Amino acid sequence: MNSYYAGYFDSDEPHFLESCSLCRKTLSLNSDIFMYRGDMAFCSQECRQEQIESDESKAKSWRETSSSSRSSLRKQSDTKDSVAGKTVRTETLVMA
Ligand SMILES: [Zn+2]
Repeated sequence: MNSYYAGYFDSDEPHFLESCSLCRKTLSLNSDIFMYRGDMAFCSQECRQEQIESDESKAKSWRETSSSSRSSLRKQSDTKDSVAGKTVRTETLVMA
């Protein structure tokens, strides 16, 4: 998630609307500009489509990576949670 969104926020370049995000062709205000996700501009529908497809494959590989890293994270937090749960349960028993 971090690298995916870092790229998104890093696109805050001053000239991002002046050239195609894909082929870097200079965009003219007089010609059609194809916007994507509000901050990416493309010279043509084809370039935008390529970016969308590349994003989709990135998102797909990100989900695969993240689900494996998330399951290892969950393992850690489950251990922590069960310890915390034990403490809470003990306190509840004492109070009851
Ligand atoms: Zn282009």
